[in-house]
Amino acid sequence: MIKIENLCKKYGDLSVLENVSTEIHKGDVVSIIGPSGCGKSTFMRCLNLMEQPTSGKILIDGQDILADGADVCKLRQKMGMVFQSFNLFSHLMIIENIMLGPVNLLKKDKQEAYDEGMKLLEMVGLTNKAFAYPDELSGGQKQRIAIARTLAMHPDIVLFDEPTSALDPTMVSEVLAVIRKLANDGMTMMIVTHEMNFAKNVSNRIFYMDEKGIYEDGTPEQIFDNPQKPKTKEFIYKIRTCNYEITDKRFDLYEFNSEIESFLKKQLFSDKRINNVLLVCEEIIFNLLFNNLGKDFSPIEFTLKYSEKNDETIIEFRNDKINKNILKSSDEVAMSIIQKYTQNLNVEANTITLKI
Ligand code: ADP
Ligand code: MG
Repeated sequence: MIKIENLCKKYGDLSVLENVSTEIHKGDVVSIIGPSGCGKSTFMRCLNLMEQPTSGKILIDGQDILADGADVCKLRQKMGMVFQSFNLFSHLMIIENIMLGPVNLLKKDKQEAYDEGMKLLEMVGLTNKAFAYPDELSGGQKQRIAIARTLAMHPDIVLFDEPTSALDPTMVSEVLAVIRKLANDGMTMMIVTHEMNFAKNVSNRIFYMDEKGIYEDGTPEQIFDNPQKPKTKEFIYKIRTCNYEITDKRFDLYEFNSEIESFLKKQLFSDKRINNVLLVCEEIIFNLLFNNLGKDFSPIEFTLKYSEKNDETIIEFRNDKINKNILKSSDEVAMSIIQKYTQNLNVEANTITLKI
């Protein structure tokens, strides 16, 4: 239905999208997720030509909408768009807001546009607001009206750009319910959203956007339960990382401890849990420094990764002299401390990994 080939978008020198290629099929419900600023809105705005792409092709039913002489207006009507802010005309009644496009652009007669508008209001559960003005409605209601208004243009696909992020939390579900109904009715949609559970339930495809394009795509199960690429994993598992490099044998333990502590405090660790992490780190570091790397020091790279989703802490020590036997010569007290607080200790060439 829509084929996107090597789509690029630059704002001046800033390259936002680079060679994005994908296909959207009829009936697809694609949720787009990814960090803020990665180009999700830009991608959607390029699709319906609210932004002029720098290069590439967008084919709708085989027609390139970027080609010279393409009927942009008509093609744009095939793509409805629903924004974060509802953009209703405040001086027009709700039903007039909905009739405006069909009457002015599709040249429908007023009665027909009215009848259809009333049906759409029924679909979004707001028939009783037909003669109200936008200011009399809540945010959730306004967004449902904005959806009805978009549908009145009979689009082939509806693009939603964070449709619930301007809403009071209590109103999110009424809007999601309407979108879910559209999905069940077979509407083709692309939805930029931060509502991960919703995205997982409503979509058949997920695009994770990063690094100027669609970084990873797959089914909701693939992306949410088994992401493959590093940045997708970080995003999905909400992994926060703290790095420290021990560059000297007489390194500053106090500084090290206080950096870890302030990082873990941000992740809402209890004092007891922080102490356990520090204790284990200290034992490992002293073991490395004094038993094994003493003579011929080379820097130790320390990484702590905390996954908010799994509430899991992974610690890595990297050094080119680490080998499988490195902890064998530790004293018993040190080993018992390490073992008491770690669930998983793995020693390989160059790396010690442990889970706390
Ligand atoms: P997202 O929707 O994923 O948060 P956007 O598509 O809004 O990201 O923005 C992607 C990048 O493009 C950002 O760095 C943003 O600052 C930049 N950008 C977006 N719109 C414009 C614009 N009209 N002019 C210049 N830069 C822009
Ligand atoms: Mg955006």
